[in-house]
Amino acid sequence: MPKSKKILLLGGTTEAYELAELLYEKNVLFISSLAGRTQNPRIPIGKVRKGGFGGIDGLKKYIIQQQIEIIVDATHPFAEIITKNAHQAAFETNINYLRLERPLWQQKAEDQWNIVQTIEQAVAMIPKNSRCFLAIGRQHLQAFSKRTDVDFIARMRDLPEKLDDFHHLKIILDRPQDKNHELVFLKEHKFDCIVCRNSGGDASYAKIEAARILQLTVIMQTRRELANMQIVSNINDALNVIKHLQIQAE
Ligand code: NAP
Repeated sequence: MPKSKKILLLGGTTEAYELAELLYEKNVLFISSLAGRTQNPRIPIGKVRKGGFGGIDGLKKYIIQQQIEIIVDATHPFAEIITKNAHQAAFETNINYLRLERPLWQQKAEDQWNIVQTIEQAVAMIPKNSRCFLAIGRQHLQAFSKRTDVDFIARMRDLPEKLDDFHHLKIILDRPQDKNHELVFLKEHKFDCIVCRNSGGDASYAKIEAARILQLTVIMQTRRELANMQIVSNINDALNVIKHLQIQAE
């Protein structure tokens, strides 16, 4: 196998940053890719590119130009377009594709979850005249504006694009906190409901634990079923797959 063959690591997640560290330590050739929409994103160690590829065709060109041997797709569980495109582009260029996706959060007996498949179902499920914490990405906020009976607070790192007729939404610029801080936050705003997505992982789980303690209703969007693809749920398993490809720096 030529030594210049390398990994394209689709990132933007905790797992991708951690995997980049390990690949770098092990002297494996890889390029991290970020969508480039977050202001001041954390930059992974090693070689990095930013911005969309231009759909499947753009990604196929990139794979060929850069002599990519495998795509390791560690994007967020709800970043569905890039996952679909990456899987297809890998298939069409006859290279390997590996999905690294953390396990879903599992509902516990004390959890008050209402599980939905889509954002539209989440909008409809919010109790009337609720005070609702929108723990979802900024690109999905607008759909909730039609619930004029509800007071919404959303918490996010960057301000969303302009929203139409959404005066009953307050935005707080912040990141997820630990359980004690989430308890204070949920109580302080007198929420009776949270809308979030089942992203799995530790980074934003504290609000789910806090909601359990306060017995709040959680409207939980589940992620889609993954198509027929090779999937691992942790970094060590991803490294094992990569090891077999014997991609090393010169
Ligand atoms: P998406 O809807 O699946 O992707 C939209 C478009 O963004 C893709 O078609 C692609 O553009 C570009 N793109 C997405 N991820 C990319 C990457 N890693 N490198 C290069 N281009 C990328 O994705 P999204 O939900 O907007 O998420 C974007 C990024 O943010 C992902 O890397 C994801 O891991 C991270 N993230 C997302 C969430 C979330 O809730 N969705 C949360 C945390 C982090 P082209 O078609 O032009 O190639």
